[in-house]
Amino acid sequence: MASPTILQLGDPRLRQVAQPVGDVRSPEVQALIDQLLVTVSAKSGVGIAAPQIAQALQIMIVASHPSPRYPQAPEMAPMAMINPQIVEMGGDRIFGWEGCLSVPDQRGFVPRYGKVTIAYTDRQGLGQTIVFQDFLARIFQHEYDHFQGILFPDRVESPEHLISEAAYQEMIQKPVA
Ligand code: ZN
Repeated sequence: MASPTILQLGDPRLRQVAQPVGDVRSPEVQALIDQLLVTVSAKSGVGIAAPQIAQALQIMIVASHPSPRYPQAPEMAPMAMINPQIVEMGGDRIFGWEGCLSVPDQRGFVPRYGKVTIAYTDRQGLGQTIVFQDFLARIFQHEYDHFQGILFPDRVESPEHLISEAAYQEMIQKPVA
């Protein structure tokens, strides 16, 4: 399967509000989930949302794994979440560096809640509830923002909290004294 094009910052389709999915088990929705899984894996991403491939639907993949972009990320099997709803969000707001496949070569220091309880539909069409903490909670909140047309640079609270990927790599490779 060929990877679809990932929309880049400035494309107005990234600013659309995503709609809930009706029939999760339809062939069209199943094919879209497969496309998202292929794309996030091809790009070594830790998450992707359907609006990034020009589908304004509430489908996201959470696919945390350690990589050069996120060396500390926990390993998990990629997970499709459809029509997710935040049941509860709490814990301290934690700042962390984020990137996005739609915002190449930039990193932002973004505050996110440390713990989020989510009700969602899985790709079999079954209702599920899950609690995400720390990095997984961060990925979820980032992808959920895509459903509202929000991108991480909108969330930084200070100009110096937006840096290049090269500067970020230099920073994380510095030995901690
Ligand atoms: Zn993103």
